[in-house]
Amino acid sequence: MGPGRELKKALEKYWAQPDDGRALLAEAARIRQMHWTAQRSAGVDLIPSGDFSLYDHMLDTTAMLGAIPERYGAANGGTPLPVYFAMARGSQTGGRDVPALEMTKWFDTNYHYIVPELVAHQSFRLSFTKVADHYAEASKLGIPTRPVLVGPVTFLSLAKASDPGTDPLSFLDAVLPVYEEALRSLAKAGAAWVQIDEPILVTDLSERQRQAVKRALKGLAGAGPKVMLATYFGALQENLDLVLESPVSGLHVDLVRGASQADELMRRKPADIVLSLGLVDGRNVWKADLDEAVKTAERFVAAFGDERVIVSTSCSLLHTPEDLSLETALDPELKGWLAFAAEKSREVVAIARALNEGRKSVAAELEESRRARESRARSPRITSKAVQERTAALTPVMARRPRPYVERARTQAATLKLPLFPTTTIGSFPQTQKVRSVRAEFKSGAIDAAQYDKFVEEEIASTVRMQEELGLDVLVHGEFERNDMVEYFGEQLSGFAFTRNGWVQSYGSRCVKPPLIYGDVSRPKPMTVRWSSYAKSLTKRPMKGMLTGPVTILMWSFVRNDQPRDVTCRQIALALRDEVVDLEAAGIGIIQIDEPALREGLPLRRSEWKGYLSWAVESFRIASSGVKDGTQIHSHMCYSEFNDIIPSIADMDADVLSIESARSRMELLGAFKEFRYPNEIGPGVYDIHSPRVPSVEEISGLLETALGVLQPSQLWVNPDCGLKTRGWKETKPALVAMVEAARQLRAHHGKKRPRAD
Ligand code: GLN
Ligand code: ZN
Repeated sequence: MGPGRELKKALEKYWAQPDDGRALLAEAARIRQMHWTAQRSAGVDLIPSGDFSLYDHMLDTTAMLGAIPERYGAANGGTPLPVYFAMARGSQTGGRDVPALEMTKWFDTNYHYIVPELVAHQSFRLSFTKVADHYAEASKLGIPTRPVLVGPVTFLSLAKASDPGTDPLSFLDAVLPVYEEALRSLAKAGAAWVQIDEPILVTDLSERQRQAVKRALKGLAGAGPKVMLATYFGALQENLDLVLESPVSGLHVDLVRGASQADELMRRKPADIVLSLGLVDGRNVWKADLDEAVKTAERFVAAFGDERVIVSTSCSLLHTPEDLSLETALDPELKGWLAFAAEKSREVVAIARALNEGRKSVAAELEESRRARESRARSPRITSKAVQERTAALTPVMARRPRPYVERARTQAATLKLPLFPTTTIGSFPQTQKVRSVRAEFKSGAIDAAQYDKFVEEEIASTVRMQEELGLDVLVHGEFERNDMVEYFGEQLSGFAFTRNGWVQSYGSRCVKPPLIYGDVSRPKPMTVRWSSYAKSLTKRPMKGMLTGPVTILMWSFVRNDQPRDVTCRQIALALRDEVVDLEAAGIGIIQIDEPALREGLPLRRSEWKGYLSWAVESFRIASSGVKDGTQIHSHMCYSEFNDIIPSIADMDADVLSIESARSRMELLGAFKEFRYPNEIGPGVYDIHSPRVPSVEEISGLLETALGVLQPSQLWVNPDCGLKTRGWKETKPALVAMVEAARQLRAHHGKKRPRAD
């Protein structure tokens, strides 16, 4: 993106006013040059090229292979900018309305790629020469580089066939010649090596995928340049055999996430190949332990000789912020513990120098790394005795509501007196330009806290009134005081810090600035009680309190690497538990704890799912189990595929779960045919990602579908997700339709809510 998100700015300028694209491309070239020269001056020997993308590197691979779906109207194999961005973002020009290609998360990162969509008789031909162009561009600047391509097996494994009978892997023989042609042209231009990224190799592979890897590596290795096969985000494990039997010339391994591979490689002693050691963490922001890294690298040099060892980061630095020196406002002690992409490049160089010229040559760097470690281990701001004692004293009872759902439901029915098919929303209401600008005024000091609070109260009051008018059953306050569902809580919890410029790409021009969890987490004082109580005071209807769950806060932050993730998660859970209890004490009888990120935390290997799900579910339960039977706990999930973890979701034991499903037309409900969901549930009845207003019939239809697998007493009526990205213009009529659909359904099924048993 560039240190000041230059690419984002250039892209958004182009999108707002598409021109011939020359300014955008010039800015992109300037950013590439800046990154290449920064690496060269840091002392990096092997600098990658072709890893830069205007939007996404998977999309670039789709373009390279000429696999552009017909509806985008690419003429004769080229990929002009309008076609490229139409695939990424959809296009509505000249009376044509073409939606974007699907987008989803890249492995277990928060980076999203554009999913390739292949038709049954897909043909491929070399159609986009980005990698060769960028290689030539760097050469012209006098910077020799190693071109990088997403490998064919990863590409096809992540692709989707538009015809469900087709397995994308069946196209391997068709894409290989295109790859080989691309590699030959790189060889011709002077590239001695290419890097082929196959992160799919750190996942569980089917037999078909394994066969594909074998054939692909054989084909690629014979095309011309030597192949450095790059794997990252985990260990190769059983897939290492595939690589060692193949004719590739080099292998990159992630020794941060897959530290265990060091011993395995030592034991196997692969002959001939060059080993690239991913020793500096590309997924987190902490300074490396250089002593440890040098020690590991020395073992490899001793075993394989220095000609065969390369020192590197664990993965692409796309996933870390750019440059720590821009963080002028960060506390100096904390800053001393961190390394962003620029600093990580220098760490890589320091490790290599220690090998080449001896440890003495980098004594200062080693000393700095040591000092950071020691200061981090001793710093009073990291450890809180109280938090540690409390976490250690956790008992299974604390992760369990006192009575089972069926009994709780009876108490809740008696106090809440909700109708059958209760209606509610997921929490946020439109964050209008006005809301954002008033918050900005408050942050800049243009208005004071009292003025800001008054504004938020007014927004809450009018939203409560509107929900009453609409006839919603369970109201929310609207979340107007929140900038972001994780940042809002992180800012009020101890153990969290925030950067000014720590942006990482999420998708396209969109970047996120994850909070940094550096210490034991606790909650100095209530975080949401003030707003929820105020909202409650305005109405007789039930007001739902609204919190972000422990797993989601953890997943969307940079986390500590000095203690296991599950420990940090339990600490967050305990802090939230206090908030839940305080909300209950303030008379809030319904509390929602959002966990949209639960699914994305799933490990890449299935064998590790159980362990993860067990502590993730437990953390949610710790947060939610401090309340009495009559307090109704809700949770909410969205943005992912849930069917394969439904039993774990049920295990969270929320009284009510609202879950995204309208976008996939209730595909989710398929899972409930085999698995009887035990508690109450509101499968989303309309997609909030689009300004489209759903009709009453459409919503009724979805609700009837849901009743095919759910009992009437279980079913809630709500949208797919929060409404913060929507405008009021479409929000009101959509909710009118939703409330009306629930009313009609009640007329069919009888008004009174039958007892839960
Ligand atoms: N309560 C949040 C909202 O309504 C949930 C957001 C989310 O699921 N991502 O905005
Ligand atoms: Zn959501």
